[in-house]
Amino acid sequence: MNKTKVGDNTRLAHMGNNPRDFHGFVNPPVVHASTVLFPDAGTMASRNQKYTYGTRGTPTTDALAAAMNELEGAAGTIIVPSGLAAVTVPMLAFLSSGDHILIVDSVYHPTRHFADTMLTRLGVEVTYYDPAADKGIATLMQPNTKVVLTEAPGSGTFEMQDIPAIVDIAHRGGAIVMMDNTWATPLFFRPLDHGVDISIQAATKYPGGHSDVLLGTVSANEACFERLLDANGALGICAAPDDVYQVLRGLRTMGVRLERHQQSALALARWLEGQKGVARVLHPALESHPGHAIWKRDFTGSSGLFSIVLDGGGEKQAHAFLDTLKYFGLGYSWGGYESLAVHVQLNDRTIAKPPEEGPVIRLQVGLEDVEDLKADLAAALDATAKA
Ligand SMILES: *Cc1c(COP(=O)(O)O)cnc(C)c1O
Repeated sequence: MNKTKVGDNTRLAHMGNNPRDFHGFVNPPVVHASTVLFPDAGTMASRNQKYTYGTRGTPTTDALAAAMNELEGAAGTIIVPSGLAAVTVPMLAFLSSGDHILIVDSVYHPTRHFADTMLTRLGVEVTYYDPAADKGIATLMQPNTKVVLTEAPGSGTFEMQDIPAIVDIAHRGGAIVMMDNTWATPLFFRPLDHGVDISIQAATKYPGGHSDVLLGTVSANEACFERLLDANGALGICAAPDDVYQVLRGLRTMGVRLERHQQSALALARWLEGQKGVARVLHPALESHPGHAIWKRDFTGSSGLFSIVLDGGGEKQAHAFLDTLKYFGLGYSWGGYESLAVHVQLNDRTIAKPPEEGPVIRLQVGLEDVEDLKADLAAALDATAKA
């Protein structure tokens, strides 16, 4: 099969395992393993067989890693137990005491927490940069800058970043670029094709898709994979086989789910732009978004997560909005089949100014019927106006 010519959904249906490897069963086995037996002492001494120990991979993890390699266009993928681990493991792999990292200020909050506590304690210098800086990161690059971390759109506020421009500056300064690409998934943006060295995915979100599994994947280019794999092995991090299987299962339908998430989120975002009580809608696929041109140039789609800025008010109004919602649950994470809402806290920002008009509410648009979600949001806006 010519993998570059077929459509995304065709690829999602056929990538990863080869059914012929397992007697024709469509799906790979879920291999629970620590010990792997060797046929004789010589083979054991040379470790000259495909699988050697449970922490070093199984047919189940290989199937998911192969699928992610194909989706990401990567040389290799490691699978870790959460999306957050998919951020921290590559940082530990590529940063040493005395090194410097540049991190976008609109980063996922737990990534900032890791940088401000553990990385700092290990002697890594951390600088946050404006998500709008793009080429401007040149002025922040130091001789010891080893990693530039990007995340686009930004967590909670959805700022876009000019990834190719950042890659160019970082590489010229001898740094590698990592990208947390959870929002777009490799279906809507392929970081490695744009020069990024390490692509991070919280597989908990769209790949899993059902709010019942935690997993992360880190995909690297040829130059970075060996070091990444080695660090992961050194740390002893591996994911549980049932979770790995669940994510491979989720990937098969990710394309059709994302189509629906995209469609419903865009419909609601456009409708919300015209609603009283909404100051702004933060969705990069909207023409009104400051990062729209970059999104249009580099991305091939948009997912189901965006924010609205309420027109005035504070916590009382934000809570009135959230407490009125019936189908949007109040909870963290996203990417599942059900809608969610959260009041975004932006007091961790050091450079990127949070919106000032009012509270920011992040919406995860699920697979429900869009008219029901619209009615839910309309009632919430009504209640907010009265609060
Ligand atoms: C959720 C999320 C993560 C972390 O994923 P978990 O599996 O919940 O640890 C990392 N990055 C981004 C952008 C996320 O939204």
